[in-house]
Amino acid sequence: MNIVLVTGASSGFGQAICRKLIADGYKVIGAARRLDKLQKLAQELGANFLPLTLDVSKKDSVETILLQLPKEFQPIDILINNAGLALGLEPAYEADYNDWQTMIETNVIGLVHLTHQILPGMVERNSGYIINLGSVAGTYPYKGGNVYGASKAFVKQFSANLRTDLLGKKIRVTNIEPGLCGGTEFSNVRFHGNAEQAAEVYKDVDFITPEDIANTVSWLVNTPSHFNVNSIEIMPVAQA
Ligand code: NDP
Repeated sequence: MNIVLVTGASSGFGQAICRKLIADGYKVIGAARRLDKLQKLAQELGANFLPLTLDVSKKDSVETILLQLPKEFQPIDILINNAGLALGLEPAYEADYNDWQTMIETNVIGLVHLTHQILPGMVERNSGYIINLGSVAGTYPYKGGNVYGASKAFVKQFSANLRTDLLGKKIRVTNIEPGLCGGTEFSNVRFHGNAEQAAEVYKDVDFITPEDIANTVSWLVNTPSHFNVNSIEIMPVAQA
């Protein structure tokens, strides 16, 4: 178990997870759409890191790209489905349909594409670990959370159902459900680059950091293979 694929590796949690798992001794494939960011990370992390341009929402290219991975980065032992985003915080009746579509295509369909492609190999080898990045938004509703929260509720239930299908096999599935985290591009993306609005979210909150999430992932993947954490909800002390 030493090859990891991390989606959404060009910023935030994904980038921190890559750094931590490389330090732990894993070989890591970091995937995202922005190659320049991945290449910068590759310079820092060295030969055990493979930058991979990948749009998780495009099924055909996900399939082709994963089939063409260099031999030394195959097979994928650990899949970290982290790529995701929120767009908008309007009430449902004022929301932009394109925002809804992008969230579903990334958070739901993208995660399904990667899982559908990689899981059969894990089953064949009877070994593997899938870690999904859900959110507390998938459990607790909030104003304007509409499609984002629903997409993370999908991730939560999909993770639970995967566990059921995989009963008796040596494949683990964990859904990480973070609360308010800073130090990522999440809020900036959510507000379409409006930095002022993005910063407002984190005002006076001692939020969770990407390193907190990376340390959690590191702990999970280094636990013994008989041990499964089904879900893990991580909140800042300041968030109820
Ligand atoms: P960031 O915006 O910093 O990172 C999101 C990553 O997803 C980027 O690397 C982005 O890369 C990638 N991404 C987006 N769309 C696609 C796509 N179509 N194909 C491939 N990669 C894509 O956010 P965070 O690190 O904060 O968020 C990571 C995950 O954690 C998300 O799933 C988010 O929903 C979840 N989360 C975040 C919380 C927070 O408060 N920050 C709280 C709870 C959950 P690129 O643009 O280069 O493709």
